[in-house]
Amino acid sequence: MCHDAVWISLPERQYEASGRQNRRVSIDGCIADTITELWNCGTRTLGCCCGHGDTCPSVLVCASENPIHVRNLLDRLDERNWSVFKWERGKLMEW
Ligand SMILES: [Zn+2]
Repeated sequence: MCHDAVWISLPERQYEASGRQNRRVSIDGCIADTITELWNCGTRTLGCCCGHGDTCPSVLVCASENPIHVRNLLDRLDERNWSVFKWERGKLMEW
């Protein structure tokens, strides 16, 4: 758990997918390394949260991503249990 956010410059592919003007994003510090690794693996994300000690860390992935693949990646990258979210047909689904 942490109370500090870090600023990270998005890698090219993630930046293009994000549609953001600002390339720099604020991420909860204790999940920044894992999210960066996800990006390095080509996973595109829309948002994330460490849970701040109340819930497990979570990531919201782009519609084009395979959430099961992302789950498997997270199992390898991070010992914490993660929730993977994705919008499907207007509903937020958890994996
Ligand atoms: Zn944290």
